[in-house]
Amino acid sequence: MAEQKRYLLLTDSPDHPVSRDLQKLYPDMVGEVDVSKEDISLDLIGKAEAVITMCRKAEAVERFNQKPIMDYAAGGGLVISCLYEYAYWRGFPFLFRHAGRIRPTMEIIEECDVTRGFSRGDRLYWYRNANDVDDPAVGDYSYREIEVEGTIGRRILARSCMTGGAVIIEERVNRGRLVAMDFLSPMDLSLSDGDPHWNHPGAFNKYVFLGNLLGRTVRYGRYVNEKLPYGSFAERLRSMCGPRDEFRIEGIASDGSNIYSLTVGNTKGKMFYMQGVKHGVEWENAYGLLCLLESLKKDPPLDLQRFCVKVIPILNPYGYTHCCRHNANGVDLNRNQRPDWDRFRGWTDEVVAPWVFDYKGPRRLSEPEAELERNILRDQRIICFADFHGMVSGTMMDGSGPDPEVVIRVGEEFERAFANRYLIKGAHDRRVHQVNLMHRPQRDHPEQYKSEGSRYDFVCESYGQFPSTYATVMQTDYVAEMGRTILRVVALDTIRKEEGSKALGLGC
Ligand SMILES: [Zn+2]
Repeated sequence: MAEQKRYLLLTDSPDHPVSRDLQKLYPDMVGEVDVSKEDISLDLIGKAEAVITMCRKAEAVERFNQKPIMDYAAGGGLVISCLYEYAYWRGFPFLFRHAGRIRPTMEIIEECDVTRGFSRGDRLYWYRNANDVDDPAVGDYSYREIEVEGTIGRRILARSCMTGGAVIIEERVNRGRLVAMDFLSPMDLSLSDGDPHWNHPGAFNKYVFLGNLLGRTVRYGRYVNEKLPYGSFAERLRSMCGPRDEFRIEGIASDGSNIYSLTVGNTKGKMFYMQGVKHGVEWENAYGLLCLLESLKKDPPLDLQRFCVKVIPILNPYGYTHCCRHNANGVDLNRNQRPDWDRFRGWTDEVVAPWVFDYKGPRRLSEPEAELERNILRDQRIICFADFHGMVSGTMMDGSGPDPEVVIRVGEEFERAFANRYLIKGAHDRRVHQVNLMHRPQRDHPEQYKSEGSRYDFVCESYGQFPSTYATVMQTDYVAEMGRTILRVVALDTIRKEEGSKALGLGC
């Protein structure tokens, strides 16, 4: 066998899309063993950090020799298997279910390290295609399940919402463990180029549980079972307000709704301001900002005795509620506030009127939401502003500030923190790849990022604008990780510069 890899995939179908996906998710970390050519032995698998098995052909199942695999697990190893061979090893009934035109879902039964990012009772899409055509939907969804109950040493982590069978099973094997679940999903559509995965609800969850087991995927994100009505969202934000935090109404939106903020940390200290949902259809970031706030309480990436973080998760309540870009007056708030409002022509050549894609409004800052943003940013305590958006076509970060190197460092550190966690195929991507910044500040284009003041400004785009909540564990993870990176890097730089000027006797 070639050099030892961290993870070993034992399969009867070498170079299958699942194998290729795993290689993309964990570059240079996955070794593949063709069980039709090589016998499985403890010698072969003993040194791997995890062994993954995928049997696709019934006639090959005997090649998945359970003795060395169970010995490996018993010695403290981690085995992740597909359902078919697991059912074969344990003698449980295995069922291939055809779901016709209904997209099958499963329900999370147990919250544990495998289901990190999800809550008990969450329902999420879990299926594969019975054929390789899904868009437009032609039906033919399918899933696989096992008829088995939990017992001592065996837990059912998720069940099919359709027929109740077990779809994720965890078993203790002496010092190690075995987790059985399927990896096959609409992600197999990577076979057909040009078919964007973001509109395949099953695709986003495919490797999340496996990734959680390998210790890398969901860190701060949380799946959203349903998009809350605006009032319920505000209640959730209020419920996160601790004794030393500040929850307040910042202003009144164009539809008469209150706009809420939550500030955590030392409110007399220097302030970071983070904002989401200026464009209402980019609604997922609101939940990402909740995850960011939650993570600030558990594991702050900056000194909250020294700094504070103000968050307005939803600047545009009308847009959030109606899932549209504009506010109640049909104005694009991100154009209404532009300093070059007079000259701005818009990106479309349609007659410019309310509700046209990026209609800039009758005059600069005519809209209460845009005026509110401007007023908040006049606060001299603010050292950094991050505006979170969502695109169907990709991810990016742009920024400016007094030190362009700091902006570049944020991009680099985010990419490091988010590497090897999710696979995506967006609207304009030809290939499945890891979620990463498609555009970030470039070291060789510093003139683009010339600072106009002492504040750092970031605009962050994640994949977003999806019609339902199926990708939210990834989206919220992205926003929280991006926010944490900005807070960590800019706070550290601020402290370093303050202490540098103190040391030089310049004062603050
Ligand atoms: Zn936007």
